[in-house]
Amino acid sequence: MPETMLKVKDLHAWYGESHVLHGMDFEVPKGEIVTLLGRNGAGKTTTLRCIIGLLKKREGSITFKGEEMIGQSANVIARSGIAFCPEERGIFSSLSVLENLLLPPKVAEGGMSLERIYELFPILKERGKSQGTKLSGGEQQMLAIARILRSGARLLLLDEPTEGLAPVIVQQIGDIIGSLRDEGFTILLVEQNFRFAERMGDRHFVVEHGQVIDRFERSEVEANREKIAGYLGV
Ligand code: ATP
Repeated sequence: MPETMLKVKDLHAWYGESHVLHGMDFEVPKGEIVTLLGRNGAGKTTTLRCIIGLLKKREGSITFKGEEMIGQSANVIARSGIAFCPEERGIFSSLSVLENLLLPPKVAEGGMSLERIYELFPILKERGKSQGTKLSGGEQQMLAIARILRSGARLLLLDEPTEGLAPVIVQQIGDIIGSLRDEGFTILLVEQNFRFAERMGDRHFVVEHGQVIDRFERSEVEANREKIAGYLGV
């Protein structure tokens, strides 16, 4: 069993008075792709926002490489090596592709070089001078992932990276995420697209009403296909 990179234990969270996470429990082994699956409103995005420190009203434990992250600021968490790529992509649309890449979110040591970024995403080199607003959805998603790679983070939290993208682009993004795992990155992926989650994930946690209600390793998915479809309502 590889070392645990991230461990979430009995995590509760609130938006104002509204209690939305009710004891989330899961762990992400180093070098794996782990998915959080579940219907709209189950609490997946909220979980990512808690990990990165954007949602402050949280209780329980979130350890990253053994260090407690509850109580730490979003800046400290980012500098410790966790990066979040939100569903809305978080790029600066008024800036060019290159300017976005030269403005990493939170600079840490060991960010990926532009050369390596361009190997992984050749389209970003071609589109270097284009403004963010002129990019297709797929190009924006690639730029968003590239930006967090510039930060030097080794744990990547990706919120629905394939949403709204054409199948051929989804395939490309999957290839890139797979290469990142092969390079030793650890990835926590929130997905509604079960086919994509199934392709990418080494293990899966099913979230419902702010709790993990089931879990499957890659080898267990085939035998539990109907059960998982039931959880996701597909
Ligand atoms: P989705 O894919 O729709 O984002 P999700 O599983 O990521 O689904 P969350 O976005 O984490 O779900 O939402 C969990 C619960 O928190 C839902 O009931 C949602 O309505 C509520 N919620 C989300 N964001 C806020 C907010 N900013 N203020 C108040 N409640 C919120």
